[in-house]
Amino acid sequence: MNAVEGLSTARRIVVKIGSILLADESTGDIRSVWLDALCADLAALRKQGADVVVVSSGAIAVGRHRLGLARATLRLEEKQAAAAAGQIRLAHAWEEALAHFETTVAQVLLTFADTEERRRHLNARSTIETLLRLGAIPVINENDTVATEEIRFGDNDRLAARVAQMISADLLVLLSDIDGLYSADPRRDEKARFFADVADITPEIEAMAGKAAPGYSSGGMITKLEAAKIAQASGCAMIIADGKP
Ligand code: GLU
Repeated sequence: MNAVEGLSTARRIVVKIGSILLADESTGDIRSVWLDALCADLAALRKQGADVVVVSSGAIAVGRHRLGLARATLRLEEKQAAAAAGQIRLAHAWEEALAHFETTVAQVLLTFADTEERRRHLNARSTIETLLRLGAIPVINENDTVATEEIRFGDNDRLAARVAQMISADLLVLLSDIDGLYSADPRRDEKARFFADVADITPEIEAMAGKAAPGYSSGGMITKLEAAKIAQASGCAMIIADGKP
């Protein structure tokens, strides 16, 4: 399936939202006008009959401001504290925004082990399936507050791909501040080539990926391509899209 065509036909869609879209970098405030517009789109997808699951980043980006953690690079325990302070605000923002569409939000915080260990995986899957059956939108994040460096994803790109695999989604959409895959970072290299469609993640494609800017979000193109590999292995198409418009 071509991923973009898949958007109109997919029955089950996981949408991952990067911190950079949800939270104002200098204040940590949630961009509520943007979030409302996104929720209108999610509601429209549901009206078409699709199951929608959200993987939302932003807890650390929001929480660090609330705790006065201004440094670009945080220590693990500071990230965990920021996630604890930010997650509660994030969940509230999602609830408020989706309430305009009479949709119940259900928060699910997962750890790496919840996606990797069979029993926990099955358990998480059954909870998400039940929420979908009951008409809720599950809003998922990593449980950053309890996850230590060795056992954490650290980025929601791969977490979202694992979730897509877990619930047999047919489409994964990664919304961030870049509109797809380029041969180099288009913000730094004007010769960067755009790839509209990628059928296979070859070593050449992987070599094109750059790291995220430090301090703010954790992903970058590397984790997006890792997510693509997970998605591809489970027959799920993936779109990388600029979430700003
Ligand atoms: N789980 C992190 C948070 O909510 C985000 C990870 C990422 O940037 O992908 O703040």
